[in-house]
Amino acid sequence: MIIMKAGATEEEVANVVKETKKFGLKADVSRGEFRTVIGLVGDERKIPFSHFAVLPGVKEAMMVETPYKLISKEYGKLFDEESGCRIVKVGNISIGGDKPVFIAGPCAVESKQQIFKIAEGIKKAGAHILRGGIFKPRSSVHSFQGLGAEGQGEAEEALSWLREAGENYEMPVITEVRGETQVDLTAKYVDILQIGARNMYDQDLLTMVARKNKPILFKRHFGAGVEEFLSFAEYIAAEGNKDVILCERGIIPVGKGKSYTRYTFDLAAIPAIQKETYLPIFADPSHATGRRDLVHNMSCAAIAAGASGLMIETHYDPAEAWVDGQQMITPDELKDVIDTCNRIFGLISPASKGK
Ligand code: PEP
Ligand code: MN
Repeated sequence: MIIMKAGATEEEVANVVKETKKFGLKADVSRGEFRTVIGLVGDERKIPFSHFAVLPGVKEAMMVETPYKLISKEYGKLFDEESGCRIVKVGNISIGGDKPVFIAGPCAVESKQQIFKIAEGIKKAGAHILRGGIFKPRSSVHSFQGLGAEGQGEAEEALSWLREAGENYEMPVITEVRGETQVDLTAKYVDILQIGARNMYDQDLLTMVARKNKPILFKRHFGAGVEEFLSFAEYIAAEGNKDVILCERGIIPVGKGKSYTRYTFDLAAIPAIQKETYLPIFADPSHATGRRDLVHNMSCAAIAAGASGLMIETHYDPAEAWVDGQQMITPDELKDVIDTCNRIFGLISPASKGK
């Protein structure tokens, strides 16, 4: 990591970047109000730090061994002294700011009428962003894979319904990109690209999605430790895209017999992650519990734990839903969750939200 002097010129910064390239590393230039910091992407052992320390405009040059240095709290504080917390902007919505943000919608987009009706319901309930899966990751090849699996034309049509529903009810939209072949098409239609839990480790997909320069909602794999989760988020940041919204969605439950929840909601990971990174962290109580009767309580708990927002599966008639009906709540129930969570969020001090 190279910290530039407060008055370092653009030429001096460009010179340091040129030098890092000479040693086969990429430079991540972060310009703060007070100073510029250059993070090194690649094997830092190749860098003679004593050489960099004496280049014009350089204040300090040092090796940082954390696997997720570009998204680390320390790095963020060097160029943004104010809060050490990044605000991810999507349209006029600020994620990670002083209000919680709610993403809601069905597990899967099923029809134009369905996504419009749900969009209307969640907007009235107070949600900010519309979700809807088009390329669904499923455990069985025999179950519904999302409309995107029916062909390119069907995928594009479903994406356009999602987009139109979002425009109609003035909400940005998000959907999951499950594979590299879906990236270009999906990025044409959505405001936020979602990387699902199962793809957390797919570094080629992460790199490709990062290059779209759109915000990314990045879900934790159900078997990943926090350090691994952050280390893979670093692949996105290493492409120069720091608009990453992390999302805790539950990990594999332990023990024999019934566990009564689909996953184990790792709530303590929320404040733990906030101490490590400046990126906002969300929670998904729907997939974490797999139970609609637990969504309200666990939404409140996640906000109390310091989450910047929630992703909640919602359907006007969960019994009718093609996928994940058992964990969906109705727009009326969503309104109750949002109202309560807004109150809880107001009670939590900024310090407890990682600020
Ligand atoms: C989803 O949000 O649609 C989803 C499939 O979640 P996860 O990747 O967390 O299982
Ligand atoms: Mn689902």
